Amino acid sequence: MGFPHLNGKTKVCGLFGFPVEHSFSPAMHNAAFEQMGLNWAYMPFEVHPDKLPQAVQGITALGLVGANVTVPHKQKVIPLLHELDAAARLIGAVNTIVSEKGKLIGYNTDGKGFVTSLEKDAKYNCNNKKVLILGAGGAARAVAVQLALAGVNKLYITNRSREKAAQLAWEIEQGTAIQAEVLGWGTELPGSRVAEMDLIVQTTSLGMSPACNIAPDFPYEALHSGQVVCDLIYNPETTLFLKKAAMQKAKIYNGLGMLLYQGVLAFELWTGLRAPVEVMREALYKQVKKI
Ligand code: NAP
Repeated sequence: MGFPHLNGKTKVCGLFGFPVEHSFSPAMHNAAFEQMGLNWAYMPFEVHPDKLPQAVQGITALGLVGANVTVPHKQKVIPLLHELDAAARLIGAVNTIVSEKGKLIGYNTDGKGFVTSLEKDAKYNCNNKKVLILGAGGAARAVAVQLALAGVNKLYITNRSREKAAQLAWEIEQGTAIQAEVLGWGTELPGSRVAEMDLIVQTTSLGMSPACNIAPDFPYEALHSGQVVCDLIYNPETTLFLKKAAMQKAKIYNGLGMLLYQGVLAFELWTGLRAPVEVMREALYKQVKKI
Protein backbone atom coordinates (compact mmCIF):
# COMPACT_ATOMS: atom_id res chain seq x y z
CA MET A 1 0.00 0.00 0.00
CA GLY A 2 1.37 3.45 -0.88
CA PHE A 3 0.57 6.87 0.52
CA PRO A 4 0.52 9.09 -2.60
CA HIS A 5 -1.78 11.57 -0.88
CA LEU A 6 0.59 12.51 1.98
CA ASN A 7 1.28 16.25 1.90
CA GLY A 8 1.46 19.27 4.18
CA LYS A 9 -2.23 19.03 5.01
CA THR A 10 -2.27 15.36 6.04
CA LYS A 11 -3.77 14.75 9.49
CA VAL A 12 -1.95 12.08 11.46
CA CYS A 13 -3.01 9.70 14.19
CA GLY A 14 -1.46 6.42 15.24
CA LEU A 15 -0.83 3.67 17.72
CA PHE A 16 1.45 3.81 20.77
CA GLY A 17 2.48 0.35 21.91
CA PHE A 18 5.47 -1.87 22.62
CA PRO A 19 5.60 -3.81 20.37
CA VAL A 20 3.31 -2.55 17.57
CA GLU A 21 4.56 -4.38 14.50
CA HIS A 22 1.78 -7.03 14.51
CA SER A 23 -1.09 -4.57 14.94
CA PHE A 24 -4.02 -4.70 12.49
CA SER A 25 -5.06 -1.12 13.27
CA PRO A 26 -2.98 0.70 10.60
CA ALA A 27 -4.53 -1.40 7.80
CA MET A 28 -8.05 -0.98 9.24
CA HIS A 29 -7.86 2.82 9.73
CA ASN A 30 -5.94 3.64 6.55
CA ALA A 31 -8.50 1.66 4.51
CA ALA A 32 -11.25 3.73 6.15
CA PHE A 33 -9.48 7.05 5.43
CA GLU A 34 -8.94 6.04 1.81
CA GLN A 35 -12.59 4.99 1.36
CA MET A 36 -13.80 8.27 2.86
CA GLY A 37 -11.39 10.34 0.73
CA LEU A 38 -9.80 11.77 3.90
CA ASN A 39 -6.29 13.17 3.77
CA TRP A 40 -5.43 11.32 6.97
CA ALA A 41 -2.81 8.70 7.90
CA TYR A 42 -2.56 6.20 10.77
CA MET A 43 0.98 5.28 11.82
CA PRO A 44 2.33 2.62 14.22
CA PHE A 45 4.70 4.15 16.82
CA GLU A 46 6.83 1.78 18.88
CA VAL A 47 6.99 3.61 22.20
CA HIS A 48 9.35 2.19 24.82
CA PRO A 49 7.74 2.28 28.31
CA ASP A 50 10.44 4.75 29.47
CA LYS A 51 9.49 7.15 26.68
CA LEU A 52 5.70 7.22 27.11
CA PRO A 53 5.56 10.74 28.64
CA GLN A 54 7.59 12.19 25.75
CA ALA A 55 5.45 10.33 23.20
CA VAL A 56 2.24 11.68 24.75
CA GLN A 57 3.66 15.23 24.76
CA GLY A 58 4.47 14.59 21.11
CA ILE A 59 0.76 14.32 20.28
CA THR A 60 0.38 18.02 21.02
CA ALA A 61 3.86 19.03 19.88
CA LEU A 62 3.48 17.38 16.47
CA GLY A 63 -0.20 18.24 16.05
CA LEU A 64 -1.47 14.66 15.94
CA VAL A 65 -5.25 14.29 15.91
CA GLY A 66 -4.95 11.57 18.54
CA ALA A 67 -3.67 8.08 19.13
CA ASN A 68 -4.63 4.58 20.06
CA VAL A 69 -2.81 3.15 23.06
CA THR A 70 -2.09 -0.52 23.54
CA VAL A 71 -0.10 -2.89 25.74
CA PRO A 72 1.77 -1.99 27.97
CA HIS A 73 0.64 1.67 28.11
CA LYS A 74 -3.14 1.55 28.69
CA GLN A 75 -2.99 2.32 32.44
CA LYS A 76 0.28 4.27 32.59
CA VAL A 77 -0.99 6.83 30.09
CA ILE A 78 -3.82 8.04 32.36
CA PRO A 79 -1.86 10.55 34.51
CA LEU A 80 -0.42 12.06 31.33
CA LEU A 81 -3.84 13.15 30.01
CA HIS A 82 -5.97 16.23 30.78
CA GLU A 83 -9.40 14.56 30.91
CA LEU A 84 -10.91 11.08 31.05
CA ASP A 85 -14.21 9.89 29.69
CA ALA A 86 -16.45 8.26 32.35
CA ALA A 87 -16.04 4.69 31.04
CA ALA A 88 -12.24 5.01 30.79
CA ARG A 89 -12.19 6.26 34.38
CA LEU A 90 -14.21 3.28 35.61
CA ILE A 91 -12.19 0.79 33.57
CA GLY A 92 -8.93 2.40 34.69
CA ALA A 93 -7.45 2.15 31.18
CA VAL A 94 -7.34 4.20 28.00
CA ASN A 95 -7.04 2.87 24.45
CA THR A 96 -7.90 6.06 22.53
CA ILE A 97 -6.64 9.62 22.97
CA VAL A 98 -8.29 12.57 21.25
CA SER A 99 -6.40 15.86 20.99
CA GLU A 100 -8.94 18.67 21.23
CA LYS A 101 -7.84 22.31 21.32
CA GLY A 102 -4.60 21.40 23.09
CA LYS A 103 -6.32 19.10 25.59
CA LEU A 104 -5.69 15.35 25.57
CA ILE A 105 -8.85 13.38 26.37
CA GLY A 106 -8.71 9.65 27.16
CA TYR A 107 -11.39 7.16 26.10
CA ASN A 108 -11.74 3.40 26.25
CA THR A 109 -13.44 1.96 23.19
CA ASP A 110 -12.57 -1.70 23.98
CA GLY A 111 -15.59 -2.46 26.15
CA LYS A 112 -17.91 -0.31 24.05
CA GLY A 113 -16.54 -2.11 20.99
CA PHE A 114 -17.57 -5.42 22.53
CA VAL A 115 -21.09 -4.26 23.39
CA THR A 116 -21.49 -2.57 19.99
CA SER A 117 -20.42 -5.74 18.18
CA LEU A 118 -23.07 -7.68 20.08
CA GLU A 119 -25.70 -5.09 19.19
CA LYS A 120 -24.77 -4.64 15.52
CA ASP A 121 -23.48 -8.05 14.44
CA ALA A 122 -25.34 -10.41 16.79
CA LYS A 123 -28.45 -8.16 17.08
CA TYR A 124 -28.18 -8.81 20.82
CA ASN A 125 -29.40 -6.35 23.44
CA CYS A 126 -27.53 -6.70 26.75
CA ASN A 127 -30.17 -4.83 28.72
CA ASN A 128 -31.43 -6.79 31.74
CA LYS A 129 -29.36 -9.89 30.90
CA LYS A 130 -27.53 -12.11 33.39
CA VAL A 131 -23.89 -12.20 32.32
CA LEU A 132 -21.05 -14.48 33.36
CA ILE A 133 -17.51 -13.24 32.71
CA LEU A 134 -14.56 -15.64 32.78
CA GLY A 135 -11.42 -13.69 33.70
CA ALA A 136 -10.63 -10.49 35.56
CA GLY A 137 -7.73 -9.01 33.56
CA GLY A 138 -7.66 -5.84 31.46
CA ALA A 139 -10.07 -7.05 28.79
CA ALA A 140 -12.50 -8.35 31.43
CA ARG A 141 -12.50 -4.95 33.16
CA ALA A 142 -13.36 -3.12 29.92
CA VAL A 143 -16.13 -5.57 29.03
CA ALA A 144 -17.56 -5.74 32.57
CA VAL A 145 -17.75 -1.95 32.97
CA GLN A 146 -19.36 -1.44 29.58
CA LEU A 147 -21.89 -4.24 30.16
CA ALA A 148 -22.76 -2.61 33.49
CA LEU A 149 -23.20 0.76 31.73
CA ALA A 150 -25.37 -1.00 29.11
CA GLY A 151 -27.76 -1.98 31.92
CA VAL A 152 -27.31 -5.71 32.37
CA ASN A 153 -29.35 -7.35 35.12
CA LYS A 154 -26.34 -8.66 37.05
CA LEU A 155 -22.69 -9.55 36.43
CA TYR A 156 -21.08 -12.78 37.65
CA ILE A 157 -17.29 -13.03 37.57
CA THR A 158 -15.14 -16.15 37.75
CA ASN A 159 -11.34 -15.99 37.66
CA ARG A 160 -8.40 -18.23 38.57
CA SER A 161 -7.20 -15.60 41.06
CA ARG A 162 -10.33 -15.07 43.11
CA GLU A 163 -9.09 -11.84 44.71
CA LYS A 164 -8.85 -10.17 41.29
CA ALA A 165 -12.44 -11.19 40.54
CA ALA A 166 -13.51 -9.83 43.94
CA GLN A 167 -11.71 -6.53 43.28
CA LEU A 168 -13.40 -6.15 39.90
CA ALA A 169 -16.82 -7.02 41.33
CA TRP A 170 -16.32 -4.45 44.11
CA GLU A 171 -15.32 -1.74 41.62
CA ILE A 172 -18.34 -2.49 39.41
CA GLU A 173 -20.67 -2.17 42.39
CA GLN A 174 -18.98 1.05 43.58
CA GLY A 175 -18.89 2.66 40.15
CA THR A 176 -22.20 1.59 38.62
CA ALA A 177 -25.71 0.68 39.70
CA ILE A 178 -25.15 -2.99 38.77
CA GLN A 179 -24.61 -5.86 41.21
CA ALA A 180 -21.61 -8.11 40.69
CA GLU A 181 -21.02 -11.52 42.32
CA VAL A 182 -17.92 -13.71 42.34
CA LEU A 183 -18.39 -17.38 41.44
CA GLY A 184 -15.91 -20.26 41.85
CA TRP A 185 -13.38 -21.01 39.12
CA GLY A 186 -13.18 -24.20 37.05
CA THR A 187 -14.46 -27.28 38.90
CA GLU A 188 -15.81 -24.95 41.64
CA LEU A 189 -18.26 -23.34 39.22
CA PRO A 190 -21.66 -25.04 39.53
CA GLY A 191 -23.38 -26.02 36.25
CA SER A 192 -26.69 -24.87 37.71
CA ARG A 193 -25.36 -21.27 37.88
CA VAL A 194 -23.99 -21.44 34.34
CA ALA A 195 -27.34 -22.72 33.02
CA GLU A 196 -29.16 -19.62 34.34
CA MET A 197 -26.94 -17.13 32.43
CA ASP A 198 -28.07 -15.34 29.26
CA LEU A 199 -24.60 -14.29 28.08
CA ILE A 200 -21.19 -15.82 28.81
CA VAL A 201 -17.97 -13.97 27.93
CA GLN A 202 -14.61 -15.75 27.96
CA THR A 203 -11.94 -13.06 28.46
CA THR A 204 -8.93 -15.09 29.64
CA SER A 205 -6.00 -15.78 27.33
CA LEU A 206 -6.62 -19.55 27.61
CA GLY A 207 -6.93 -21.10 24.14
CA MET A 208 -5.11 -18.33 22.30
CA SER A 209 -2.83 -19.46 19.45
CA PRO A 210 -0.51 -21.39 19.61
CA ALA A 211 -2.21 -23.06 22.64
CA CYS A 212 -5.35 -23.76 20.57
CA ASN A 213 -6.10 -27.12 22.21
CA ILE A 214 -6.57 -25.55 25.65
CA ALA A 215 -9.91 -24.41 27.12
CA PRO A 216 -10.79 -23.32 30.64
CA ASP A 217 -12.16 -25.97 33.02
CA PHE A 218 -15.86 -25.23 32.82
CA PRO A 219 -19.19 -27.09 33.18
CA TYR A 220 -19.77 -27.12 29.39
CA GLU A 221 -22.63 -29.62 29.68
CA ALA A 222 -24.69 -26.89 31.41
CA LEU A 223 -24.62 -24.61 28.34
CA HIS A 224 -27.74 -24.59 26.15
CA SER A 225 -29.34 -23.17 23.02
CA GLY A 226 -30.85 -20.15 24.78
CA GLN A 227 -27.42 -18.66 25.47
CA VAL A 228 -24.95 -16.43 23.67
CA VAL A 229 -21.31 -17.37 24.29
CA CYS A 230 -18.43 -15.07 23.31
CA ASP A 231 -14.67 -15.48 23.39
CA LEU A 232 -12.54 -12.32 23.07
CA ILE A 233 -9.83 -14.36 21.33
CA TYR A 234 -9.79 -14.11 17.52
CA ASN A 235 -6.73 -16.26 16.80
CA PRO A 236 -7.77 -19.03 16.35
CA GLU A 237 -11.05 -17.86 14.85
CA THR A 238 -12.96 -20.49 16.84
CA THR A 239 -11.38 -21.39 20.18
CA LEU A 240 -11.87 -24.77 21.80
CA PHE A 241 -14.10 -22.96 24.33
CA LEU A 242 -16.39 -21.77 21.52
CA LYS A 243 -16.34 -25.19 19.86
CA LYS A 244 -17.51 -26.78 23.10
CA ALA A 245 -20.23 -24.13 23.49
CA ALA A 246 -21.40 -24.69 19.90
CA MET A 247 -21.72 -28.42 20.63
CA GLN A 248 -24.27 -27.46 23.30
CA LYS A 249 -26.12 -25.38 20.64
CA ALA A 250 -25.26 -22.00 22.19
CA LYS A 251 -24.79 -19.10 19.71
CA ILE A 252 -21.08 -18.29 19.50
CA TYR A 253 -19.06 -15.16 18.64
CA ASN A 254 -15.29 -14.60 18.59
CA GLY A 255 -13.30 -11.45 19.42
CA LEU A 256 -13.09 -9.99 15.91
CA GLY A 257 -16.24 -7.93 16.38
CA MET A 258 -14.77 -6.26 19.48
CA LEU A 259 -11.52 -5.53 17.64
CA LEU A 260 -13.42 -4.06 14.69
CA TYR A 261 -15.77 -1.85 16.69
CA GLN A 262 -13.10 -0.50 19.07
CA GLY A 263 -11.51 0.80 15.86
CA VAL A 264 -14.80 2.05 14.45
CA LEU A 265 -15.49 4.01 17.65
CA ALA A 266 -11.95 5.48 17.71
CA PHE A 267 -12.32 6.53 14.06
CA GLU A 268 -15.58 8.29 14.89
CA LEU A 269 -14.06 10.05 17.93
CA TRP A 270 -11.18 11.41 15.83
CA THR A 271 -13.02 12.35 12.64
CA GLY A 272 -16.54 13.12 13.91
CA LEU A 273 -17.75 11.12 10.90
CA ARG A 274 -19.66 7.83 10.60
CA ALA A 275 -17.04 5.09 10.04
CA PRO A 276 -17.17 2.87 6.94
CA VAL A 277 -17.66 -0.28 9.02
CA GLU A 278 -17.69 -2.82 6.17
CA VAL A 279 -14.48 -1.42 4.66
CA MET A 280 -12.79 -1.62 8.06
CA ARG A 281 -14.13 -5.16 8.57
CA GLU A 282 -12.76 -6.27 5.20
CA ALA A 283 -9.33 -4.72 5.90
CA LEU A 284 -9.26 -6.40 9.32
CA TYR A 285 -10.28 -9.82 7.99
CA LYS A 286 -7.57 -9.61 5.31
CA GLN A 287 -4.98 -9.10 8.07
CA VAL A 288 -6.39 -11.94 10.14
CA LYS A 289 -6.24 -14.34 7.18
CA LYS A 290 -2.49 -13.62 6.96
CA ILE A 291 -1.80 -14.88 10.51
P1 NAP B 1 -4.57 -9.91 31.11
O1 NAP B 1 -4.90 -8.59 31.68
O2 NAP B 1 -3.17 -10.42 31.21
O3 NAP B 1 -5.55 -10.99 31.82
C1 NAP B 1 -5.40 -12.38 31.58
C2 NAP B 1 -6.58 -13.14 32.14
O4 NAP B 1 -6.42 -14.53 31.76
C3 NAP B 1 -6.68 -13.14 33.67
O5 NAP B 1 -8.02 -13.27 34.06
C4 NAP B 1 -5.88 -14.40 34.05
O6 NAP B 1 -6.22 -14.94 35.28
C5 NAP B 1 -6.33 -15.34 32.95
N1 NAP B 1 -5.39 -16.43 32.73
C6 NAP B 1 -4.19 -16.34 32.09
N2 NAP B 1 -3.59 -17.57 32.11
C7 NAP B 1 -4.43 -18.42 32.76
C8 NAP B 1 -4.38 -19.80 33.10
N3 NAP B 1 -3.34 -20.57 32.77
N4 NAP B 1 -5.42 -20.36 33.77
C9 NAP B 1 -6.50 -19.58 34.11
N5 NAP B 1 -6.60 -18.26 33.82
C10 NAP B 1 -5.58 -17.69 33.16
O7 NAP B 1 -4.92 -10.00 29.56
P2 NAP B 1 -6.09 -9.20 28.80
O8 NAP B 1 -5.53 -7.96 28.24
O9 NAP B 1 -7.27 -9.15 29.70
O10 NAP B 1 -6.37 -10.18 27.55
C11 NAP B 1 -7.06 -11.40 27.75
C12 NAP B 1 -7.48 -11.99 26.38
O11 NAP B 1 -8.37 -11.09 25.72
C13 NAP B 1 -6.31 -12.22 25.41
O12 NAP B 1 -6.52 -13.45 24.76
C14 NAP B 1 -6.43 -11.08 24.43
O13 NAP B 1 -5.95 -11.41 23.14
C15 NAP B 1 -7.94 -10.88 24.38
N6 NAP B 1 -8.32 -9.51 23.98
C16 NAP B 1 -9.09 -9.37 22.87
C17 NAP B 1 -9.46 -8.10 22.46
C18 NAP B 1 -10.31 -7.94 21.22
O14 NAP B 1 -10.40 -6.81 20.71
N7 NAP B 1 -10.94 -8.97 20.74
C19 NAP B 1 -9.06 -6.98 23.20
C20 NAP B 1 -8.28 -7.16 24.35
C21 NAP B 1 -7.92 -8.45 24.73
P3 NAP B 1 -5.42 -14.50 36.63
O15 NAP B 1 -6.01 -13.17 37.04
O16 NAP B 1 -5.70 -15.58 37.60
O17 NAP B 1 -3.97 -14.39 36.25
